[in-house]
Amino acid sequence: MAGSKLVLEGRVSIKAFLLGLSVLVIPLIRTCYGHVDWVFDYLTETPGKIVICIHIAVINGLLLITYRGPLYKVAVRACFLGVIFGCGLIISFSETTWTHFGWYLCSLSFFHYSEYLVTAIINPRSLSLDSFLLNHSVEYTLAAVSSWVEFTVEKLTFPELKQLNWLSVVGLLLVLCGEALRKAAMLTAGSNFNHIVQNEKAQSHVLVTSGVYAYFRHPSYVGWFYWSAGTQVMLCNPVCILGYTIASWRFFRERIEEEELSLIHFFTEDYVEYKKRVPTGLPFISGIRAN
Ligand code: SAH
Repeated sequence: MAGSKLVLEGRVSIKAFLLGLSVLVIPLIRTCYGHVDWVFDYLTETPGKIVICIHIAVINGLLLITYRGPLYKVAVRACFLGVIFGCGLIISFSETTWTHFGWYLCSLSFFHYSEYLVTAIINPRSLSLDSFLLNHSVEYTLAAVSSWVEFTVEKLTFPELKQLNWLSVVGLLLVLCGEALRKAAMLTAGSNFNHIVQNEKAQSHVLVTSGVYAYFRHPSYVGWFYWSAGTQVMLCNPVCILGYTIASWRFFRERIEEEELSLIHFFTEDYVEYKKRVPTGLPFISGIRAN
């Protein structure tokens, strides 16, 4: 396993993500010659919008020529996330009051793309289009749309709320730490990690108790919990900060109980012992009661 090559889908996704990121090239070239403000005009002014649409159409055409069938489906998703990441960077570095929304776009697209890439590295057998977690659940999509609506409405009605730079920096730190913890957990658990909770024990499934698993029983959920709340802190969205925190807390409480039932079944005394030693990592969630 160690040192083995990245699967084809993983390699395709990297190329497509970088291709999507090429939306940065035009404003970068222009910035060298023109006024910095043009960078944001690239996204908002009509000529910029036309250029960006042509750019996206050209790179999508390239993907269509290069890949077929399932590989095209991987490439088009990775490319889309690359475009969003690039647009997020453009907004972040522009002189605009939308800077924090730019940070948010970068956080969101990086999270979804890296879920796919890390799954390709650690557990290629479980890799599918679902590994991007783009269609995670109806609730997840609704939550994302609610946060965009809240941000826009409050930005129009109460713009000072969206200029609390220190709060957005706190959000950014939560996002970065949450993301790092989640990816550290995935890399530590390796092929034992799965986006779908397993109810049957695979022969290769072993109990992981080292690395970040020595501090938290559910480090990837801890990371995701703080990441998701962090995105809303970053956007200074009071309603969604509360909503996201409550919804994801309830989601992880249920999921942890379901998961630990299987883990006790798989690893019996070893898991019960581990459970006694190490906390879940999530506030006020203790996991399943083992009798
Ligand atoms: N809850 C963990 C892992 C999430 S991935 C975390 O937050 O990091 C879900 C899969 O991980 C499930 O199929 C479960 O069986 C497996 N899993 C959870 N904890 C594990 C552990 N300590 N060792 C091995 N597998 C584990």
